[in-house]
Parts: sequence; structure tokens; C-alpha cells
Amino acid sequence: MIIVTLPSFRLLAALCFLTMVIMAAAGVANAADAFAALREHMVRTQIEERGVSDPAVLRAMRVVPRHEFVPNGGGALAYGDHPVSIGYGQTISQPYIVAYMTEQLDLKPGARVLEIGSGSAYQAAVLAEITTSVYTIEIIPELAKHTDETLSRLGYTSVKRRHGDGYYGWPEAAPFDAIIVTAAASHLPPPLIEQLAVGGRMIVPVGGTWWTQNLVLVTKGSEGKIKTRTLIPVRFVPLTGGPRER
Ligand code: SAH
Repeated sequence: MIIVTLPSFRLLAALCFLTMVIMAAAGVANAADAFAALREHMVRTQIEERGVSDPAVLRAMRVVPRHEFVPNGGGALAYGDHPVSIGYGQTISQPYIVAYMTEQLDLKPGARVLEIGSGSAYQAAVLAEITTSVYTIEIIPELAKHTDETLSRLGYTSVKRRHGDGYYGWPEAAPFDAIIVTAAASHLPPPLIEQLAVGGRMIVPVGGTWWTQNLVLVTKGSEGKIKTRTLIPVRFVPLTGGPRER
């Protein structure tokens, strides 16, 4: 016969509680492991196998918890080979496109980089894993607020964020070694070309809104000479703002 005395009952309850705490912690660890496994699979099959090879970009894509940038925790959907809706008619780009565009910027640690279209803040976080000087602008106020909260929550506090029309860039912080536009422009925005440093690189989807666009790489040579090169076809949400709204 087992006699449960009061002290041993307390001990039992304490043990139960401790077990629950350990199991909960293990659950969290398993969830984190599951996301890490999904991320590793994403990087290998969607990014490395398609030719992205810059070690800094691959490291960033392995480290940034993409599911944290997708609404409602995102789950496994965040690691799929496609864009994901983030509300307000906007999307977080497909992982491969984020990696490809980032690689094209050829960022050195400490480079100054400007992103137009913060959206979910995922691309900004990827940039922040590579360089310490990241600026990002978002035109939709609710998304700008969300960007702010997400970057703070996940510890990307060094990223400078602004709500505004990115067509006009961030003149006070210019020149930038790299500029990445993550919405489709009908033409290369002159203010952004102006704010690109000599030797700088800008990547921007150019073409008709809602139809396929081309990613264009803009480089600024000595004496400000601009060169453009068309890379791959892509599909982005439109860049709004600019002179059309004036
Ligand atoms: N880089 C984002 C994806 C962006 S989707 C990410 O990693 O999630 C494109 C974003 O560009 C949208 O959030 C849209 O509101 C924003 N955008 C469109 N036109 C803009 C403009 N003129 N200035 C700043 N942001 C703009």
C-alpha cells in the first residue's frame, strides 16, 4: 500500500510541474528545430541548387527565421518555394528571389544599403545579417508600423526604418553602396540613381505592373557613368508613389 503523506504529495506535484516545464521547453525546442530543418531544406533545394553561392547570403538565409515575418506565425508555408501574402495586397518575396537579389548587391560588411518596400521586413533582416548599415522605407503606414515592431521584436534594432515614398530615396543618408527595390517600377527612379554611390549597385524590377517584369542591375562607374544589365524575369507588386501621385 502506498501512503501519500502531505510532503510527498507536494514533492509529486513539484515533480509533475517540473516535467511539464521540461516538456514545454522540449516542445519549443522541437518547433525551433522543425523550422531550422525547413530552412535548411529551403536553402539547399531552392537557393543553392539554383546557383546562389555567396557564403554571406547563404548564411543569412539560414539564420533569419522567415516564419516570424509571415502573418500568424506563418508555419511551414513560410518556407515554400513561392511568395506569401502579408496583407494590404502585398507579398513577402519567394526565398530564391530574396537570395538572388541580395547576392547581386555584392555587399561588403559595413556597406550602406537602402531597401525600398519594407513589407514584412524579411529582406531587411537578411540584409542586416550581412551589413551593419541598413535603411528601409515602406509607403503603407500599417506595414511600416508592422516592420518597426517585427525588427524590434527579433532584435534587428540597428535597421533604420522610415514610413514614406521610397521613390525619392533617403537623401540625408545617401550615398548608398547598394539599393534594392522590392516593388516593380515602370522606370528607374532618378532620385535613386542619384543616391547611388560611385561603384554602387542597384537592383530593381522594371516593367508593367501586374505583368512579368525584368530584374535590372544598375551600376554606377567612375564619373557617375550608369550601366544597366537585364538579369531574370520576375513578378513583383507595383511600386506606388513617385511623380504619378503628385
Ligand atoms: N521586401 C519585402 C517585400 C515587399 S512587397 C519583404 O521582404 O517582405 C513590396 C512592398 O513595397 C510593399 O510593402 C509595398 O507597400 C511597398 N511599396 C510600394 N511602393 C512603395 C514606395 N513608393 N515606397 C516605399 N514602399 C513601397
